[in-house]
Amino acid sequence: MSYRVTLLPGDGIGPEVTTAMRKCVEATGVKIEWEEQPVGEFAIKKYGTPLPDHVLESVRKNKVAIKGPIVTPIGTGFRSVNVQLRQALDLFACVRPCKSYEGVRSRYSKIDLVIFRENTEDLYAGIEFDIGTKEAKQLIQEINGLQKRQIREDSAISIKPISVFCSKRIVKYAFEYALKHNRKKVTAVHKANIMKFSDGLFLRSAREVAEEYKGKMEFEDVIVDNMCMQLVQKPELYDVLVLPNLYGDIVSDLCAGLIGGLGIAPGANIGTECSLFEPVHGSAPKYAGKNKVNPTATILSGVLMLRHLHEDAAADRLETAVKDVIREKKHVTYDMKDDRNDPSAVGTQEMAEAICKKLR
Ligand code: NAD
Repeated sequence: MSYRVTLLPGDGIGPEVTTAMRKCVEATGVKIEWEEQPVGEFAIKKYGTPLPDHVLESVRKNKVAIKGPIVTPIGTGFRSVNVQLRQALDLFACVRPCKSYEGVRSRYSKIDLVIFRENTEDLYAGIEFDIGTKEAKQLIQEINGLQKRQIREDSAISIKPISVFCSKRIVKYAFEYALKHNRKKVTAVHKANIMKFSDGLFLRSAREVAEEYKGKMEFEDVIVDNMCMQLVQKPELYDVLVLPNLYGDIVSDLCAGLIGGLGIAPGANIGTECSLFEPVHGSAPKYAGKNKVNPTATILSGVLMLRHLHEDAAADRLETAVKDVIREKKHVTYDMKDDRNDPSAVGTQEMAEAICKKLR
């Protein structure tokens, strides 16, 4: 059987890490017809927009996509293509497994966490009003009339919507995953002590969903700042974490740090209709075109994609090949060497080829 998958190489280091992933996925023997579509800077050059409609159509049609990272200009310029993709395709669950691999340079070992980040709302909803605009002025006036605490006129405003529907949907998804994968506990992470209504609603929704799983799965909640400290001090106490969008983004990077860095942290964005797999890391522009960065995060995103396609045997073989290459520490990129300047570090494609060889 052959699958059709939309491949979005992205920009920056994206084309290099997706080429490496493609080689490794193909080496498993699973037949995939790749529908490659430029996005980000390459799509701007070709189509005048970073996310042309036909890219969304391709993902909707194939239902499965894998992508490299895409630059998001800070403060100005086009809106994040990643956020647009997640919203347009209703990819509501961002799933980020963080697992220690033997041989990775890290202060921690035996980390095995899975993060579920709500992907469609919160401060990432993209509802923002810039300083001095007619809309911002109108909104400030309206809000100042509604309550005592006054917003300064020279303010920009970002809106944080959190709904019962989206909160329950992500928490339920995390519980179902936890049950299916024999995990021990689900922890909801929030800041409901300060944001009593938005985060309060997330927490209440999580508690209501947890009731349905009582006796089947342990549940607790932790405030996000405390969670960050706990993860650094005693990560072994945690198992499955479920968070609103912004905290999920930040805590994912923290957890990537626990397992040895962004170079090895994969991710999946799951929706009701389609799914999109991508590394947690960004486009690292300073390394673009240098065949230097670690392809592992994107290759492991390929492993998640194979599991999603129910190609578990191929996924297991590819994950084992990645583990073996990392453990041997011979054919690995600079970031996995004990000394980052070690001249024996190999390039992105050479590490992928070493992984492919293990599969043969
Ligand atoms: P980044 O992840 O690109 O880089 C952060 C650090 O991690 C850098 O020092 C880099 O050297 C290192 N790093 C990242 N990937 C690595 C890899 N595969 N191997 C080895 N080292 C790696 O984050 P940033 O610098 O904050 O962002 C750069 C751009 O990427 C921004 O425009 C940002 O918006 C975008 N971004 C995109 C995505 C995405 O497409 N999903 C995610 C995060 C950031």
